[in-house]
Amino acid sequence: MKTILNADLHCHSVVSDGTLTPEALAERAKSNRVELWSLTDHDEIGGQVRAAAAARDQGMSYLTGTEISVTFIDKTVHIVGLGFDVADPHLVQGLLRTRGGRRQRALDMAEGLAKVGIPDAYEGALKYAGNHDLVSRTHFARFLIEHGVCKDTSEVFRKYLTEGKPGYVEHRWAALKDAVGWITQAGGIAVIAHPARYKFSANEEYAFFSEFKDHGGQAVEVVTGSHTSAEYVTYAETAREFGLAASRGSDFHSPNESHTDLGTLPLLPGNLKPVWELLDSRIQ
Ligand code: AMP
Ligand code: MN
Ligand code: MN
Ligand code: MN
Repeated sequence: MKTILNADLHCHSVVSDGTLTPEALAERAKSNRVELWSLTDHDEIGGQVRAAAAARDQGMSYLTGTEISVTFIDKTVHIVGLGFDVADPHLVQGLLRTRGGRRQRALDMAEGLAKVGIPDAYEGALKYAGNHDLVSRTHFARFLIEHGVCKDTSEVFRKYLTEGKPGYVEHRWAALKDAVGWITQAGGIAVIAHPARYKFSANEEYAFFSEFKDHGGQAVEVVTGSHTSAEYVTYAETAREFGLAASRGSDFHSPNESHTDLGTLPLLPGNLKPVWELLDSRIQ
């Protein structure tokens, strides 16, 4: 693999909270000139075989992927896994357990919304979920917009789905050590997703990166649809400070909702080690 590459190693399909199928995403990635692609559905690898086949049909290189929800010091963070074996039993079991609590969480979210006069939100969210084991806040957001409660996703999250708001439910996701362990023991590389999104203090962020490394994590997203260009610079520096490889991914979910399309971000800064250099033997 070349060092400079249009790699997009973070996006979502209907198997989690995206609106496109793995095949449609592969086609879109190819037409946007992506050379190396990964589908990283939340807590799920049910789309991996289809995504790899679709990438092959498009003549595009592929890395297996997922984005695991993790609770670290009472905050939710996301860890992307790349290049793992999809049949690894510990990873499969770990993901099953991680997404297992989503149904009850969604029912509790709906109860909170019902209390403020929005009935039947669970059934409503389910209509938008391609995978009923993976109901996420995004599906609730789509339901609330469709029903005219809010005008767009950011308004829904701000008013209903974040801490302290009626549809928010505390949830305990996987432990950092477990998520990193499942990925690395399955032959993959663990990557800190969109680090600028977390509301950590400087000390908390230092602890997060240090523990991630201690558990065997090896990379961090530097160029992502969730970062500003100033944040590319900040996290390029953090990657170097912690000796982590760098990843790049749009976090694309939907043509109607995502402001960053597949394969359209700036390339990784040249003085970082691209994560795909660690994954040469895992590229399909
Ligand atoms: P969940 O895993 O159910 O907590 O849902 C998390 C998903 O909600 C993320 O992966 C994003 O797709 C979406 N999301 C979270 N925060 C926001 C936000 N402020 N605006 C729009 N989408 C968001
Ligand atoms: Mn999402
Ligand atoms: Mn994420
Ligand atoms: Mn994501």
